[in-house]
Amino acid sequence: MQTITILGATGSIGVSTLDVIARHPDRYRVAALSGNGQIDRLVEQCARHRPQFAVVAEPMRLAELKDKLHSAGLDDVTSLAGPEALEQVSTLPEVDAVMAAIVGAAGMRPTLAAARAGKRVLLANKETLVMAGHLFMDAARRGGATLLPIDSEHNAIYQCLPQPFTDAAEQGVRRILLTASGGPFRGWERERLVDVTPEQAVKHPNWSMGRKISVDSASLMNKGLEVIEARWLFDLPPERITVVVHPQSVIHSMVEYMDGSVLAQLGNPDMRTPIAYGLAWPERIDAGVAPLDLFQIARLDFEQPDLARFPCLALAFESLRAGGAAPAVLNAANEIAVAAFLDRRIGFRDIPRLNEETMHAVASRFDADSLESLTTADQTARDFADTWLARNGRS
Ligand code: NAD
Ligand code: MG
Repeated sequence: MQTITILGATGSIGVSTLDVIARHPDRYRVAALSGNGQIDRLVEQCARHRPQFAVVAEPMRLAELKDKLHSAGLDDVTSLAGPEALEQVSTLPEVDAVMAAIVGAAGMRPTLAAARAGKRVLLANKETLVMAGHLFMDAARRGGATLLPIDSEHNAIYQCLPQPFTDAAEQGVRRILLTASGGPFRGWERERLVDVTPEQAVKHPNWSMGRKISVDSASLMNKGLEVIEARWLFDLPPERITVVVHPQSVIHSMVEYMDGSVLAQLGNPDMRTPIAYGLAWPERIDAGVAPLDLFQIARLDFEQPDLARFPCLALAFESLRAGGAAPAVLNAANEIAVAAFLDRRIGFRDIPRLNEETMHAVASRFDADSLESLTTADQTARDFADTWLARNGRS
């Protein structure tokens, strides 16, 4: 029996995780569930999964959570609130595994805490690695944590690498090929991208996901964040990471070896597959995912990514070459840019503009040696981006 905390339980990954867990009540027990805002959904999840703790991110909403748990007859669920509570439920001695599925930089501290505490960390929150890849990998090593990537591409690569994977050169790995669907605007003319709406941007052709990552997929920033994520997870320099646009999203990524072999992991685009893999590793369990029907898919296509139309991907590579706090700054700018785009304050093509200007103005002022430096870099980038928006965005 594995006891598990789910950070970001009310989101897209959280809901899929609970779906897989519910299929295996003999294997998994839920210790804690967290959410931000969607209290009713969190309470419903508590009724179904009976955790010991329910955590709401905003301390202001603790009373509401308590009331609603009480009304639902769930007085045995202890309600908690705030960032410290997220760290607390990620490090409880009885917890074996933590699903890190909060979106954005807000997920970093509890994820880091779980790594330090030596948990099995199911890592969906890619922003943790983008912001603090070096510190996080170090914390996981020292804490004795088991890291299982949940992002479908990284999960695929993990499955295609030799196990245990220790060193690319020694184990004959030449490079990894990260696949990208290309998002809803693949093949669109540059000019058409000027007035795309949030509704169009969040409508991903293959995956159903939260709003932030959906916009990131449309701008290719998501692939950029994933390149940075891969750099840390697999300790590979950016030259050994190639992005391949593959519109069907059937191959979730590949590993190329020195002898010319290329190993790929395939499956239907359903996050329950990587989630089930992470939960059960090194075993395999049913995820509720339909088998892949290759006859229906019939063909698989591959294209080069277009960096001129989707500059966010190039910015991510640039941030890796610059090193230091550049990826953290890029990530912070992008969080502000995506929120402003969803609020219709800026256009789609302003996202890379704001990201680039912020990175160039802020990144070189900070190093990545400490959490303090990275947190200050993150905040400085957000302040710069807010000022940029006040000047250039609609109010
Ligand atoms: P989502 O928006 O659907 O859910 C986010 C969750 O985080 C929710 O439970 C929300 O309540 C919580 N949250 C939001 N802001 C918070 C805050 N400030 N403090 C605490 N909790 C907060 O997002 P998602 O699509 O489930 O993505 C979650 C993470 O997984 C992201 O980092 C994303 O990049 C990554 N990921 C998602 C997918 C996917 O298919 N959805 C695939 C790969 C990676
Ligand atoms: Mg992904």
